Amino acid sequence: MEQRAHITSQTRLVAVIGHPVRHSRSPLIHNAAFVAQGLDLVYLAFDVTEEQLPAAVAGLRALGALGANVTIPHKEAVLPLLDAVDATAERVGAVNTIVRRGEDIIGYNTDVFGFLMALERGWGRSPRGATCLVLGAGGAARAVVAALVAQGAAEILIRNRTMSRARDLCVAAAGWGSTPCRVVTDADLALVADRLDLIVNCTSVGLGEGVKLSPLPVDTLRAHHVVMDLVYGRGPTPLLQQAKDKGCVVMDGLEMLVQQAARSYELWTERAAPLELMRAKAAGA
Ligand code: NAP
Repeated sequence: MEQRAHITSQTRLVAVIGHPVRHSRSPLIHNAAFVAQGLDLVYLAFDVTEEQLPAAVAGLRALGALGANVTIPHKEAVLPLLDAVDATAERVGAVNTIVRRGEDIIGYNTDVFGFLMALERGWGRSPRGATCLVLGAGGAARAVVAALVAQGAAEILIRNRTMSRARDLCVAAAGWGSTPCRVVTDADLALVADRLDLIVNCTSVGLGEGVKLSPLPVDTLRAHHVVMDLVYGRGPTPLLQQAKDKGCVVMDGLEMLVQQAARSYELWTERAAPLELMRAKAAGA
C-alpha cells in the first residue's frame, strides 16, 4: 500500500497547474519524496485552463502555497502573474516552477537544467558542436534551445506548426549566444537530415495513451541520430518507436522529468532531492 503524507492543519500545499495535467507523474514523485524526507507538504495536480490561469495563480498566492510546477500550456503566460523571475526563466521566457519567498511568488525554470542532465545521462556527452533539430517552439522548446545555445551547439534548426513562433524563438536564441539558429519547413528536412546529430521533440504530439501521431516524417530519421522525446508515457512514443526501428539512440522524457523535478524540489525545500526514489516513482515503481 502506498504510504500517504500525514496531512494536518499545518501541512502546506505544492501544486502543479496545467491543461491537460491528469497524465502527470509529478504528484507521485514529489509526494514520495516529501514522505521519505518527513516534510509536512502535499503535492496536488490541478487542471487549469488558459482562462482560469490568473485566478489559479491568485489562489495559490492567497492560500499560501509553498510553490508549484507550471506545465503545458501555461509556462509563458504565467510570467506576468509573478512578482519576479530568476535570470534563466527571464532569458527563456518560460517558468516551470514557482516558489513562495516571504510574501512574493518567484518564477524559475528547471527544465533547462533537467534537459541537460538527461541528455548527458542518455547520450554520455554534452551537445557542444552538435547540429540539432528542435521540434516545437513552446515553453519546453525555449528551455531546450537555451540549453543547447549555452552548451555551444554548432547549429540549431527549429520546426514548428506555427512558423511565426519558431521565428520568434530563433530571434530570442540570437540573444542567448553565438549558435546559429534558423527555422526549417517540412521540405527542408530531407535536405538537412544527413547532417543532424540530435533531434529533440518539444511538441506535445505523441502525448497520451494510444496516440499514434509522430511529430516528424519518418524518412527524416537516420541511424546515427540521437533522438530525445520530451513526451513520456507507458511505452515508447510513436517518434521513439520509429527512431528505435532505425537504430537511433533514443531517450524519452522521464529522466528530464526526474531531473527538473529534483531541482524544483530543492528550490522549495532547500534539501537535496532523493533522486533514486524520484526515478523509481517516475518509472511507475
Ligand atoms: P506549449 O508551450 O504549449 O508548446 C506546445 C508545442 O507543441 C508548440 O510548439 C505547439 O505548436 C506544438 N503542438 C501542440 N499540438 C500540436 C499538434 N497537434 N501538431 C503539431 N504541433 C503541436 O507546451 P510545452 O510546455 O512547451 O510542452 C511541450 C511538451 O513537452 C509537452 O508534451 C510536455 O509534457 C513536454 N515536456 C516534458 C518535460 C519533461 O520533463 N519530460 C518538460 C517540459 C515539457 P504551436 O506553436 O503551433 O501551437
